[in-house]
Amino acid sequence: MSPPSDASRSATSAGSAPPVLRFTGRCAAAENPLRPTMTIDGAEVTAHATVEVVNPATEEVIAHAPECTREQLDAAVAGSERAFPGWSALAYEKRQHAVLGFARAVERHRDALADLLVLEQGKPRERAIGEINASLAYARAFSQMALDSEILEDSSERRVELHRRPVGPVGAIFPWNYPVLLAFWKLAPALLAGNTIILKPSPLAPLTGLKLGEIARGLFPEGVLNVLSGAEAGAWLASHPGVRKIAFTGSIATGKKVMSEAGHSLKRLTLELGGNDAGIVLADIDVAQMADDLFWAAFSNCGQVCAGLKRLYVPNSLYDELCDALAGIASKVVIGDGRCPGVQMGPVQNRAQFQKIAALVDEARAGGTTVIHGGAPIGGKGYFYPPTLVRDIGDGARLVEEEQFGPALPIIRYRDVEDALARANASRYGLGGSVWGRNTGNAAAVASRLETGSAWVNQHPSMAAHIPFGGIKESG
Ligand code: NAD
Repeated sequence: MSPPSDASRSATSAGSAPPVLRFTGRCAAAENPLRPTMTIDGAEVTAHATVEVVNPATEEVIAHAPECTREQLDAAVAGSERAFPGWSALAYEKRQHAVLGFARAVERHRDALADLLVLEQGKPRERAIGEINASLAYARAFSQMALDSEILEDSSERRVELHRRPVGPVGAIFPWNYPVLLAFWKLAPALLAGNTIILKPSPLAPLTGLKLGEIARGLFPEGVLNVLSGAEAGAWLASHPGVRKIAFTGSIATGKKVMSEAGHSLKRLTLELGGNDAGIVLADIDVAQMADDLFWAAFSNCGQVCAGLKRLYVPNSLYDELCDALAGIASKVVIGDGRCPGVQMGPVQNRAQFQKIAALVDEARAGGTTVIHGGAPIGGKGYFYPPTLVRDIGDGARLVEEEQFGPALPIIRYRDVEDALARANASRYGLGGSVWGRNTGNAAAVASRLETGSAWVNQHPSMAAHIPFGGIKESG
């Protein structure tokens, strides 16, 4: 790959730190930070207080996002309640038409939205475009799903019909790793079903969510789609008596708070929480053929994927060979600012997460494990941490027991498949898991014994609109 014109390569710390592509072009948002607005009851709304939004690749402040007040949140809920009877009474085709029209409008703004996504999240631009395209595909696929009523019984005794009814205003709270996709996963089904919605993106990456609100103005009746931002807004939404359902995606710790906040009014609740997904490699795999897929199962989106591969269990017979193959792939990954062409892995999205990864790896190293690639922050501006592989690590290390949600993979040796399954299942998490084997029937049989919401064979993860996705245990 030839060096891109708007980037410079810099090895910014001593030793074996990998080179990082730095963006050297002009960044208008850094010179003149953006001032995005909220969307409440169809209108543009500003806030007196703001919160700084930082580009994780440069640590520059790129925006001052609104910090909504309690009164503004109340206004959004009231608008959403007012809009509900009319919106829910519309024929399904009319709501479908509005959601599809919104998807077309977002498509027209795709480039601007992708620029914001790269700036606030850090991912490579082509991945940002991929996230937006996937969001639109989900919206279109959800729009094709019928909400037909069913006849449960039609006998001489009685006729029983099942009708799917909306619940009312829905609060949608989501994190910073896929802010566009997660907004669409929530807004499209909720609106199609006849609910109104209040979106609440993460304060760490609110720009794309706020932009979706801006695009939506005038496309839906007032109050149908609202977007707020602010650190307190999630808790206020979850506890607000006017909100009938919370669709929450985020960490287990916050999910527990949301459950208790929503408990006051006994709202309906969907919790999509963290995972610590295990992958079990069976002894019959061809290492050369599978290593790349295994690597990217763990490191795509810089490891910040809820159902990403976060613990890898490998049999004794393949252990050294697979560790070496993964380290070889890691050494070739192009790391850098998502705006630079050719970048495969961006920065960790925020300082706290960056420090958490560094601490987990330092602790594992201090515990006697071997870091075979990466293992230290890259240095210089930006939260860049290389893809890190830790071998000779056992159960009990925090890097194995906890969700790291970043670019560090523990590779754990196992004795036999029963041993691997027992250790994979000995977890409070239960989001996804995978089994990798040449004999797919055998791999599927092992996968069926994983205590997880989803289990995959020779891939991790794999999702689509018509396939249910969710966790068990503390994953939601
Ligand atoms: P987080 O729990 O810190 O924040 C998530 C959202 O909750 C943010 O919008 C935040 O502002 C809001 N929030 C904070 N306190 C709140 C409160 N008391 N009440 C209501 N809302 C509140 O999570 P994060 O660090 O932003 O995201 C990373 C986590 O999300 C990881 O654990 C990851 O696995 C998980 N995740 C899960 C899925 C899934 O589908 N299961 C998908 C993506 C991410």
